Amino acid sequence: MVRRSLRVRSLRKIYVKTSRGVNIHFKERPAQLPKCSSCKTILKGIKKFKSREYKNVSKSEKKVNRPYGGNLCSKCMRLKIKNLVRGQK
Ligand SMILES: [Zn+2]
Repeated sequence: MVRRSLRVRSLRKIYVKTSRGVNIHFKERPAQLPKCSSCKTILKGIKKFKSREYKNVSKSEKKVNRPYGGNLCSKCMRLKIKNLVRGQK
């Protein structure tokens, strides 16, 4: 059995074939790409980070310089602002 710190579901198990059988390697899962909160498309201009890495990176790497940057894509942002001006939801 592997050590306790590796027995977590947050690590990906990779089965490696060796001459003696199969070994299990534990690797960190890749970070998810940031997505638009309304249409779920991938946001451009923003790098992907693990949640714990966000505190160490600069603001410009986490968001785009416009209203709702880093949260909505430009299309959804335009729609939202238009609807706000019209007084709709
Ligand atoms: Zn969108």
